[in-house]
Amino acid sequence: MNRDPRGSPASLAGRLVLATLGFCAAFTLLTVAVRTASAWRDQRNTIAAELSQTEQVLRRTLSRAIWEMDRESLEAHLASAAKVASVGRVTLEIRRPGRQPEQLLVRSEAWQPSTLVPTLDRELVYEPYAGAREVVGRIGLDGDERVMWARLRGEVGSIVLTQVLQSLLLATLVMWLFNRSVTVHVRHVAQHLAQLSPENLSTRLELVRPATHHDELSLLARGVNQLQRSLSDYLARQREDERELAAHRDRLAELVQQRTEALQAANAQLEAQSRCDPLTGLPNRRHFDEVKEAEFRRTQRSGQPLSLLLCDVDHFKHYNDSYGHAGGDDCLRRVGQVLQTCFSRAGELPARIGGEEFAVLLPGTDAEGAMAAAERLRQAVTAVAIVHEASNVAAHLTLSIGVAQFDPSTMDRFDTLFQQADQALYLAKRRGRNQVAR
Ligand code: GH3
Ligand code: MG
Ligand code: MG
Repeated sequence: MNRDPRGSPASLAGRLVLATLGFCAAFTLLTVAVRTASAWRDQRNTIAAELSQTEQVLRRTLSRAIWEMDRESLEAHLASAAKVASVGRVTLEIRRPGRQPEQLLVRSEAWQPSTLVPTLDRELVYEPYAGAREVVGRIGLDGDERVMWARLRGEVGSIVLTQVLQSLLLATLVMWLFNRSVTVHVRHVAQHLAQLSPENLSTRLELVRPATHHDELSLLARGVNQLQRSLSDYLARQREDERELAAHRDRLAELVQQRTEALQAANAQLEAQSRCDPLTGLPNRRHFDEVKEAEFRRTQRSGQPLSLLLCDVDHFKHYNDSYGHAGGDDCLRRVGQVLQTCFSRAGELPARIGGEEFAVLLPGTDAEGAMAAAERLRQAVTAVAIVHEASNVAAHLTLSIGVAQFDPSTMDRFDTLFQQADQALYLAKRRGRNQVAR
């Protein structure tokens, strides 16, 4: 059995017995007081009756003895009266005409006068013949207080004994009944509750007693079983909810994963788009700027050549004016395709860096190689033969191209290389356009 950590649990039955005993003790005191008072009255009445009986027995013989002056008989009768247990003292007054009354007195040993015990005082009358009545004296009988107390003690003793025995028997009966019908079952309930766990909630509480008993304990057992059922249902629901929640969580994680992947793809696409010129599909200025720095540093480290072409469409303003902006766009798209075709090897980077301006980064290519590549490009654009009637250079669209090669001895920034290519382009323009210059 589980014990209270603060010590042994106090017994309900023990407490009940103590309460019963306390109540019985108080009741016993009250009962003893009432019954003692009653016994006191009874004893006084008994002694009064005994005195009266003694007086009745003595009256006739004493009257006659006084009348006949039989002193010996008088004294014998008085002595026998004094021997009656409840009589403490006998007083006899003898009256004779013309004489002083004479008193005779007999008492028990160590008798003390008392106001608590009854006394009796009667005249003695003698009838020498019928119709003649003569008062011959008085008799006085005093009860003996000691006798009364002795009788009272005996009686009170038996009253107390009866009450105490009755109380003890009652307390024992209460304890036995309480233990049998309550304590045992309460302990059983406590034990059942102590070993309950979420796993054994289906174990019902059964009281070990006939099922026909219907009382507060049955209510308690029913309540405990009901509580276990509710708790069990609640836990089952909670487990089900947790399972559903876990499934939801998994689905959510899956969804988040899908969304993240879609987002990453969109981001990658956006990233690619942010580096791509939407009109021509070539890398844009931003991409070109990122790559140019990386390539410039690589070339500084490796000592490998790096060349740059700057290309500008000749008289493109006129083209726009002649064929409209949409026509201009279409033209730029076709130039872009040519650039893409001409520079499709790994590392080569053609890009649109302005309205009708293009750049080509050629890592690992020196100035001669770059010049040749630029010339190939110029011819390829010419070969496409985009009609440009407003051009005074040719009947079709042409490109001017400036070429520059990285020179580590004079260049410490890419911009220097760029400026050099730009100057070459300017030179090509100035020399009449549709040509390559360095
Ligand atoms: P030059 O031979 O000296 O280079 O003469 P140009 O007319 O080509 O040069 P200019 O800088 O005077 O004009 C460039 C024109 O390119 C002006 C602008 O309207 C046009 N342009 C710039 N970007 C675009 C574009 O995206 N689409 C179209 N259709 N035209 C553009
Ligand atoms: Mg221009
Ligand atoms: Mg131009």
